[in-house]
Amino acid sequence: MVDILIVGAGPAGLSAAINAVTRGKSVRIFSNQENYLSKAERVDNHLGFYNMSGREIMNKFIEHAKAMNIRVEEGKVVNILPMGESFMVNINGEIEEAKKVILAMGVSKVKELPGEGRLLGSGVSYCATCDGMLYRGKNAIVWDQSKEALHEANYLSSIGVNATFVSKKPRPEELNDNIKYINGTISEVIGDNKVESVVTGEKNVSADAVFILRDAVAPAALIEGLKTEGNFIAVNRNMETNIEGIYASGDITGKPLQLSKAVSEGLIAAQHAALQIDKTKEN
Ligand SMILES: Cc1cc2nc3c(=O)[nH]c(=O)nc-3n(C[C@H](O)[C@H](O)[C@H](O)COP(=O)(O)OP(=O)(O)OC[C@H]3O[C@@H](n4cnc5c(N)ncnc54)[C@H](O)[C@@H]3O)c2cc1C
Repeated sequence: MVDILIVGAGPAGLSAAINAVTRGKSVRIFSNQENYLSKAERVDNHLGFYNMSGREIMNKFIEHAKAMNIRVEEGKVVNILPMGESFMVNINGEIEEAKKVILAMGVSKVKELPGEGRLLGSGVSYCATCDGMLYRGKNAIVWDQSKEALHEANYLSSIGVNATFVSKKPRPEELNDNIKYINGTISEVIGDNKVESVVTGEKNVSADAVFILRDAVAPAALIEGLKTEGNFIAVNRNMETNIEGIYASGDITGKPLQLSKAVSEGLIAAQHAALQIDKTKEN
């Protein structure tokens, strides 16, 4: 079991990692794509770092983390399950147990489909390697929204799921021959208590499951009962969410969407999480 697991390796996540390690805590930090800051052409408002590109500043942050033996691992966190004193975190099918979790996923760009949230866990899934086995011999749609989708579709067909790949791009050459392909996008998931079909273009395609493989997962879909305000996660001044042991920091907690705020909130979350771990040990 790790002390603190961090979701996202942007400025908030890396700041949290550095501060957790400084407090003597074991850390694992996962990220699945390039962060927001790397896109900034020039940053002038972070104290001590000015007239620099976002990429240059990120490189400095990563260098700092490496110097403290923090290794950012590639992986998308798809689900977090509270277990009383700890959490089971699902990273693309790998399970890690953590005492505390810090969510630092950046601003959420996920726009849920109609029916998606309601049928999550009842046919809607964000991870084929996690839930694929449930649909052996059944029909599943894989919606191509990220580079993982192709691999996940091939995985489903390899375990005996009748997969259909829906993508705006042409049929990928590497897609297994037995996978059906629809050129298009999905606009709705339909079903009363479980997935029955999806709407793609004018068509209604029947299915037992739909794997929605985006780069990001909506905060509320990551952990059941997490309090959100719009697309942001609600936190108090300690960066605690409404779920004890789960923290959030950076753009994901709301405006201003700025580097200095992200770094500060990462620090607060890590220090408070470390303090709580120490308190539990003393008792
Ligand atoms: C073009 C541009 C210019 C900007 N200019 C400035 C500026 O001049 N000054 C300033 O202060 N700010 C600026 N910003 C804003 C700044 O970049 C952000 O405030 C900052 O990056 C927020 O950090 P963060 O760690 O909260 O999120 P992010 O930097 O977005 O990092 C979040 C990370 O989490 C990862 N992630 C998301 N979901 C998951 C998951 N489920 N599993 C694993 N990993 C996940 C993402 O892939 C990403 O790498 C700019 C942003 C942009 C886009």
